[in-house]
Amino acid sequence: KKSNAHETEFLQAVKEVLDSLVPVLAKNPQYIKHAILERMVEPERTISFRVPWVDDQGNVKVNRGYRVQFNSAIGPYKGGLRFHPSVNQSIIKFLGFEQIFKNSLTGQPIGGGKGGSDFDPKGKSDFEIMRFTQSFMSELSKYIGPDTDVPAGDIGVGAREIGYMFGQYKKMRGAYEAGVLTGKGVGYGGSLARKEATGYGTVYFVNEMLKSKGLSFKDSTVVVSGSGNVSIYAMEKAMELGAKILACSDSSGYVYDRNGIDLNTVKRLKEVEGKRISEYVKEHPGSVFYEGFGGIWKIPCDIALPCATQNEIDEEAAKLLVANGVKAIGEGANMPSTLEAVDVFLENNVLFGPAKAANAGGVAVSALEMAQNSARLSWTFDEVDGKLKEIMTNIYNDSLKAAEEYGVPGNLVVGANIAGFVKVADAMITQGVI
Ligand code: NDP
Repeated sequence: KKSNAHETEFLQAVKEVLDSLVPVLAKNPQYIKHAILERMVEPERTISFRVPWVDDQGNVKVNRGYRVQFNSAIGPYKGGLRFHPSVNQSIIKFLGFEQIFKNSLTGQPIGGGKGGSDFDPKGKSDFEIMRFTQSFMSELSKYIGPDTDVPAGDIGVGAREIGYMFGQYKKMRGAYEAGVLTGKGVGYGGSLARKEATGYGTVYFVNEMLKSKGLSFKDSTVVVSGSGNVSIYAMEKAMELGAKILACSDSSGYVYDRNGIDLNTVKRLKEVEGKRISEYVKEHPGSVFYEGFGGIWKIPCDIALPCATQNEIDEEAAKLLVANGVKAIGEGANMPSTLEAVDVFLENNVLFGPAKAANAGGVAVSALEMAQNSARLSWTFDEVDGKLKEIMTNIYNDSLKAAEEYGVPGNLVVGANIAGFVKVADAMITQGVI
């Protein structure tokens, strides 16, 4: 529609999915008859709201909040909240759209949604973060609930923000509804292994791809962008499997350590001290910091795990990675590769794990958190991690199978889109024109 013309990220995500579905529509005319695509690209509900708050100096500030409730055919809306100055309706819609298929792929009963705000958490005090998140939740609480819509974290929203939002939701509702948010602290209803789930899941997925070619993480070199929640735990699992991490980044630049990144330093700097990644080189003399995060893809590596943000690998970066002999890409972030970059990887037979499959581990464990909350139980770390591994293997196999069935063997982009789509489309048909 013309009214969507400015929503470039959303259109990019839709194009990738629709291109993949051409053979599915040819074989299944019922999807055309029931206008499934036309309905699927239109969110069931888009909520946008004012978030006023007061900074530490007493100034009144205003940000914009969003929640896009995209599709509830197979379960309550589920998807994270992003706090970043770049957030706008297009970004939230692309993330919400992707979430529909990702959540379907997990095999868990969860629909698709996403939300957030253009609030910039960088440089804010704890109390400013608290006042902002309370104001945000005062409005959002009207639209969510354990059986309605269950938000979680994303860029700029971690355990601290989830904690403040949970407190405010409880106050607004006057009820302890543990299942309204996921990514909670383990002391009050959070699931063990949720923090690790997206990063670990990405590595489990890439490991399946590597195994299919007789390869493994052992003794391979890995470059991981970002140094947030997804990146840290992708690095941790890759190292556990015997890989050497050469570099990681944040929005200001990247650190290259030829001896292998020391994860304890990264964790302390990022998770405890809230510092910039450039500080790393002060403690590791062999390492170098380069300004500008995009340059990280110049580093030759066997495996690249983009875990920071959308469109961080463009065509040129993809060509560089290929020229330097990259064997596998695992998208830990959402839509980190542009459409042109994806084509470069596929044309050059690089193993490619697309985001909606490769990073589905986070939301899968969020669904397991919801299950534990409903049952008022807590599972052990190993129990959750075991289920995560099984889910990632299933997603890989389902995507592979769909790709083969529709004539593009090995193309996991198409396979994941199709495998995620069919279940939602069939549910929509059974539920009538709504
Ligand atoms: P965090 O906020 O914990 O970390 C994000 C990291 O990426 C930081 O190092 C940040 O640097 C960097 N980054 C963020 N925005 C940009 C940008 N515009 N340019 C360059 N660098 C940037 O977020 P997460 O790790 O949770 O999320 C990372 C990605 O993974 C996102 O695409 C998210 O949607 C996706 N994802 C996350 C899931 C989860 O469970 N958390 C689940 C599935 C997907 P800086 O600190 O300097 O901003």
